[in-house]
This record gives sequence, C-alpha cells and structure tokens, in this order.
Amino acid sequence: MTTPPDDELIPPSPGDMCRVHPERLAVLRCPRCQRPACFSCWQPVQRRCHACVMAFPAEVSPSIPWETEGVSWWRGLVGTLRQGFSPSATAPALAHGDVRSALGFALLTWLPFAALQGIIPYTHTLLFAERSVTLSGSPAAAHVALDVARAMSLGVLLGVLQLAGMGLAFASLTRAYGLAGVANATTAWRTVFYRGFIVLLLPSLMAGGLMPSDLVANLMLFTGAFEPTLYVFVAVVGGVWLLTTLRTSARLAQGVGPGMSFLIPFVVLAVGVLVRLLAETALQPLMPPLREAPAAVAPAEVDGGHGADAAEAPEAPREAAP
Ligand SMILES: [Zn+2]
Ligand SMILES: [Zn+2]
Repeated sequence: MTTPPDDELIPPSPGDMCRVHPERLAVLRCPRCQRPACFSCWQPVQRRCHACVMAFPAEVSPSIPWETEGVSWWRGLVGTLRQGFSPSATAPALAHGDVRSALGFALLTWLPFAALQGIIPYTHTLLFAERSVTLSGSPAAAHVALDVARAMSLGVLLGVLQLAGMGLAFASLTRAYGLAGVANATTAWRTVFYRGFIVLLLPSLMAGGLMPSDLVANLMLFTGAFEPTLYVFVAVVGGVWLLTTLRTSARLAQGVGPGMSFLIPFVVLAVGVLVRLLAETALQPLMPPLREAPAAVAPAEVDGGHGADAAEAPEAPREAAP
C-alpha cells in the first residue's frame, strides 16, 4: 500500500461541502481521499479526514514501540511511555494489536506503583512519618515482610478494581457509541493498559475522606515535600492527561463522534474514582487503626468534608505518627 504525500494540504474549492456532513462548509480536502472535510471531520494531527484515519490507522500513527518487532524491551518501554505524552498523535495505533502486549506493558509500568501505593496506608508494623520509618512495637523481620507484602497486595487490589471499573465502562461506552466494525473492547483495554500509569496520578481519599490514600500524596508526605498547590497541580494535570488520552482513543481509534468522545472520558473517570472510593471504604477494616490526631488539627476536620480540605487532612496521620 502506498502512502500519498501528506504534506500537501488541498484547500477546498469555493462552496465545497463536507462529504459526511453536506450541510457544513469544508475547511480542507483530505490529501488521501481528496474528499472535502468539515471542521469536525478534519483531523489536524493526522492530516487526514476522519474516515481515512479510521480506515488506515497504521498510516497515520507511529506503531507502538513496545509491540514493534526488533525493538529491545527497554527502548520499547521508554518509547511507549513517551508516546503517552502525545495522545493525539499516537491514539490510532491503539486500534490495531492485541491486549496481551498491552497487559505486559501495564505489568511493568503500572503494577509496581500500584503495589507501592498500598504500603503506607495498609502496613501495620511500620510507622511512616516524614522521612522516617519506625517499627511499631518489636515485630519479627518475617512478620514485617509479610505485613508489607500484604499491604502491597491491597494496593494492587485497589488498583485492579479501579482499572477494571474504568476499562469496563470505557469498553462498553465506546462499543455503544463508536464506529460499527471499528470500535471494540480490545482497543478500549489496550488504551487502559498502555496508559494505566496515568491513573496513579489521580487523588483518592480514605477513612471517610480524612486521609489521602493516593500514591502522590503519600510520597509527598513521606518525603516531606507535601505542598497543597503542587498536589492539586499534579491531580489536575493527571486528570486532564487521562481525559485527553481517553478522548483521543475514543475519537481516533474507535470512531466515537466528537461530542460523545468528550463526554465518555468524564464518565469513565467518575467510575474510576467512585470504584476506588467504594473499595477503600470496604477495605478500611484492614487498615491500621487511625491514631488520635492532635487537638490542633481537629478544626480543619470540623470545617467540613469538602474537597478543598484534602490538603489539610494529611496533617493528622503525619503528626500523630511519632
Ligand atoms: Zn480522507
Ligand atoms: Zn464533516
């Protein structure tokens, strides 16, 4: 199959209407099929009309290094992570390939951090404070190791439930609203597995909204670098990044319409946050008992369980730990 030169953008003739939307004026002619395309049919990053992006995804997107023959696993890993930063340019490649290689990628990029996120909230034998870890009582080394392993598996369990909820929602919505014959569950799960590491940037709360349970907050608290502004910034960047990733996959790899491809990511994100909160509520009995917060911290908690208070809440466990 020969690829026509894609650097020649052809302006439409005066009065050209979109081939898909006869009521809309065309903005360009597609260099591949020569058909006039309107604003919503023209895909500027791929420099093709939407129909050509759907029909020839391999032509308009670099292949995913992780699943490219002859690329070392290390280059594949780094290259595929880097593709995550340009979701529009790389989304069409999600439409062809199998779930297994995507799952393998998730096991390397998402699983270790999913395990890590369980350690601070769920370990009983270690007390985590700012840049210090102390033993709680005098447990045997094997006991501590088992305890940490158990906490890591709870972190993985939380992550699996969250990712599974999002994947199921994404797969069913894109199949319902995507292009018949193009949208399928494989593409949805490939998206979730190849980009699942972004989910770890999302904030989450546990213990009735009193403690941040997400990896970012816990790492920031542990390293003594907790800064509410930075925390909110990471959460917003992570959220927008994930929404964009899901939107470009829905639109460019599964043919969902422009409107629905904006809406679906919000639903998927909401499902992920909700599943996570429910799972953490269910797992709360497995947490070490919350230690008494100093009186000075109490007013921040009384002020109200609104989202903005998340930044205050971390004080409680940190000051209580020593
Ligand atoms: Zn075209
Ligand atoms: Zn159109």
